[in-house]
Amino acid sequence: MMSTTSTKLKEVKLYIDGEYVESSSNSLFEVKNPATQEVIAKVHEASYEDVDRACNAARRAFEEGPWRTMTLSERSAKIRRMAEIILERKEEIARLEAEDVGKPYPVALEREIPRAAHNLKFFADFMEQKANESYPMDDEYLNYTRYEPLGVASLITPWNLPFMLTTWKLGPCLAAGNTAVIKPAETTPLTVSLLGEIAKEAGIPDGVVNVIHGFGPGSAGEYMTTHPEVDLISFTGETSTGKAIMKNGAATLKKVSFELGGKAANIVFEDANLEKAIPISIQAAFMNSGQVCLAGSRILVQRSIFDEFVDKFKQAASELKVGDPQEAGTDMGPVVSEEHYKKVTSYLKIAEEENSTLVYGGKRPNLPEHLKNGYYLEPTIYIQENPNARISQEEIFGPIVTLIPFDTEEEALEIANNTDYGLNGVIWTDNLQRAHRVSHHVRAGTIWVNCWFVRDLRVPFGGFKKSGVGREGGSNSIEFFTEAKNICIALK
Ligand code: NAD
Repeated sequence: MMSTTSTKLKEVKLYIDGEYVESSSNSLFEVKNPATQEVIAKVHEASYEDVDRACNAARRAFEEGPWRTMTLSERSAKIRRMAEIILERKEEIARLEAEDVGKPYPVALEREIPRAAHNLKFFADFMEQKANESYPMDDEYLNYTRYEPLGVASLITPWNLPFMLTTWKLGPCLAAGNTAVIKPAETTPLTVSLLGEIAKEAGIPDGVVNVIHGFGPGSAGEYMTTHPEVDLISFTGETSTGKAIMKNGAATLKKVSFELGGKAANIVFEDANLEKAIPISIQAAFMNSGQVCLAGSRILVQRSIFDEFVDKFKQAASELKVGDPQEAGTDMGPVVSEEHYKKVTSYLKIAEEENSTLVYGGKRPNLPEHLKNGYYLEPTIYIQENPNARISQEEIFGPIVTLIPFDTEEEALEIANNTDYGLNGVIWTDNLQRAHRVSHHVRAGTIWVNCWFVRDLRVPFGGFKKSGVGREGGSNSIEFFTEAKNICIALK
């Protein structure tokens, strides 16, 4: 069956000041379907002049209004309308996301696109609720706090969850009254480019939402982090890119929020309910082909249940259907690009050199003819006793996980914290005291106990150590996208 190929070649333009326009330098780059290597789009690459126009348009839209000056309920209504349009078009957007990223269509349709709509609606509602809070006062002075927008925001996103992660930033950015210049990753720009027409249809004024395309250093990404009209940068991507952006933004003192890499410990204690721990650990390891910052890629298992866990985990991995992202029943597609495939598969050699024991996978799966060029790797599992091994330390961002045995809770904590990253951790135990104790000691921004990837948008999200700077989510997002202003009025 051939379902992933033969779509029409798309031309993706820049969206600047309310219009889709061509690159001023006539430079275009190609985007491929990772399941087949077929070229699916030609994308206009923003030159410095294009980025400059986008940043200036966003500045003008901010200064001259009416976006910033309209009432909160008018602004929120338009953002909510964007969310409705996304839901009305969810099949189309999910198909495009599956084609561009190589993720199973049902995952995009049932999880990511509805979540993208929710990101917008949530922050529109949240901001309105916040405006109704009451403030402390005394008889002499009335003090109140206003949360005012900063101006122009650069929103830069990675390729693993393109549409969902962009709206996660765009929702609070717009709800707070800022204007935006967005850049999706060069490998996966298709769905994010639709945000221009969706904003237009929702009645968002021209210049408020701009979408540009291009690469990082010496290209659009760098320009939008150094441009003098940009006030703040919300970035999700690699730790090394975060460092470069912080440096580039320093000259104009831009406010930054970074959501960066991870290498989460998924700790399974001997009293864990394996009926739950195994299938959810499988998801945490292989969802989106392991290309998830929150992936539970270091699986620490107490030695008394290690062999049982390994057998059951291996069995569950062997039952995953690797195949065409567009076909019903596919659990895992390819990784996103040739470059990334080379990076991910280089760890097979590294694992071998480090004397890791291969439990499952490690090669290309058997696939139908039309997927023979796709960037596929089987779900791959190693046992590695040495927690300092590279496969246990480095973010592989693919379908490769390490199983590490431990004896005591202290040892589990030592291994869990022995990493530069601190985005999240997962704990499996039926002992309530242990659940709290271990949660308090794992140095990470989110701890899931007996669950994984449960996201309530009201709670803070971000990383310890090299996994991030700042927090987003609920009030944290509003704080990032606003400046707090105190107003003090004498009453006597
Ligand atoms: P990346 O850092 O290579 O690229 C991300 C974006 O930054 C792209 O749009 C890219 O063009 C742009 N970019 C690259 N260099 C730049 C520069 N010098 N200046 C400005 N922009 C630049 O990341 P990626 O490979 O696309 O994504 C994978 C990474 O993202 C992983 O490390 C993953 O853990 C991380 N991630 C983190 C979270 C989180 O919430 N913490 C979520 C998803 C992904």
